[in-house]
Amino acid sequence: MQNQREHLLKISQKLVQLGLNKGTSGNVSVRFGDGFIITPSGMPIEEMTADSMVNMQFDGSFEAHTELKGLKPSSEWRFHRDILANRPEINAVIHTHSMFATTLACLHKDIPPFHYMIAVAGGDNIRCAPYALFGSQQLSDSALIALTDRKACLLANHGMIALGKDLDDALAVTVEVENLCEQYWRILQVNPNPPLLNEAEMKEVFQQFKGYGKWAI
Ligand code: 13P
Ligand code: ZN
Repeated sequence: MQNQREHLLKISQKLVQLGLNKGTSGNVSVRFGDGFIITPSGMPIEEMTADSMVNMQFDGSFEAHTELKGLKPSSEWRFHRDILANRPEINAVIHTHSMFATTLACLHKDIPPFHYMIAVAGGDNIRCAPYALFGSQQLSDSALIALTDRKACLLANHGMIALGKDLDDALAVTVEVENLCEQYWRILQVNPNPPLLNEAEMKEVFQQFKGYGKWAI
């Protein structure tokens, strides 16, 4: 378990180093045993240690490290819990308020297939889930729908969620989705209706991805 706690800390620190999270924004979880481990609520990354990570069960019960009893799990534990409970192929969840994903999320924009790398998110678009209060069950419910057959979604007026088969995979998806969001935002400055890839072209992309490096499906 200590290894997983340390990995969770490393990924959380990496998100800040990469400029994808700032302050207390965002959170990360990883499946562990018959539950999961999640970052603590409202704690700046600089103050987090491996011991700050909170152990949770799928019924919502939790246990902080023996010497840090006051710590609560991330306020977004519901969507972390619901994603891990409903997506057996997914073992890690990352949530960010990264600049370009959040910009598009605040415009309530789905990301269409303007670039073939959209395939990294699992389909030919990245959906934006309707707004709901942070930490609410409603947010979790709408995120889960937006994530159907996808490894990422935007959260209206909030940020993004990215999923992975492990923490490193979830980080790679986060980085790529943020990159796509920046590209799309820049394109929208020039042309609000950019040319998109069609269904047949995207089918071909998925075929090509079958043997393509770390994204191989
Ligand atoms: P936590 O500090 O509770 O994880 O909340 C941060 C956040 O991004 C809420 O949506
Ligand atoms: Zn958030």
